[in-house]
Amino acid sequence: MSPTESAPMLRVSDLQKSFGDHQVLRSIDLAVEPGEVLALIGPSGSGKTTVLRCLNGLEHPDGGNVAFASGPVVDFSAKTTKRQRDSLRTRSAMVFQSYNLFPHMTVLQNVIEGPVTVQKRKRADAVAEAEQLLERVGLGAKKAAYPHELSGGQQQRVGIVRALALKPSLLLFDEPTSALDPELVGDVLTVIKELAEEGWTMVLVTHELAFAREVADEVVFMDGGVVVERGHPDQVLREPREDRTRQFVHRLL
Ligand code: ADP
Repeated sequence: MSPTESAPMLRVSDLQKSFGDHQVLRSIDLAVEPGEVLALIGPSGSGKTTVLRCLNGLEHPDGGNVAFASGPVVDFSAKTTKRQRDSLRTRSAMVFQSYNLFPHMTVLQNVIEGPVTVQKRKRADAVAEAEQLLERVGLGAKKAAYPHELSGGQQQRVGIVRALALKPSLLLFDEPTSALDPELVGDVLTVIKELAEEGWTMVLVTHELAFAREVADEVVFMDGGVVVERGHPDQVLREPREDRTRQFVHRLL
């Protein structure tokens, strides 16, 4: 195998982030292979969302480095350039817990906003692609609706389509079903599972451990800003090696 073929889609080394005196990420290492689904699990406050936000450029890490297969290594312990940060930001797209749709825009406008305004793609192309993606998740008939006219599950499916429309290398999901009523969770998980089966590379923060077991190639358990344990979903979720992992998974499974 050539060096490029063996390069992970994403490599994160020694990622660190503090808010004031609170060191939220102490030293996080992750590697995600192309087509792999990595599930990040752990107690509330362990730093999972902060990892995703650092990858997506929504937070600036204090140290460590991040590299995508096709891009430069961005070293946050040195001064980074805007160009480096932009190169990271454009490689991933985030699906938020609370959807984060623009309330004053229709479903279609929400989906094409990034491709047209940020990526400068032709509006007609963006619209055609957005319509296809919305059709795919069963929302073709809702393109002219406003977010408040949709259920939470429908809004989150728009959130997923909005991320896909950016054609990222990596999809980041931040507890995508935790704001939903239980009866709406299934539809969203089905879409995520289909994307995983299609070969999308993703990092998924979730409390849905049964789903993580079903869909993930690797599970990473974080606590207190460090990775406590990682491995195959069956091992981490069924036969954890570490006490902290065991206590966490037994509470939730
Ligand atoms: P998780 O996703 O595992 O629940 P988070 O990454 O959301 O954890 O948060 C980790 C810790 O960082 C928490 O203690 C949280 O309060 C703190 N934190 C997150 N964002 C900020 C922020 N913008 N300012 C101050 N503290 C923050």
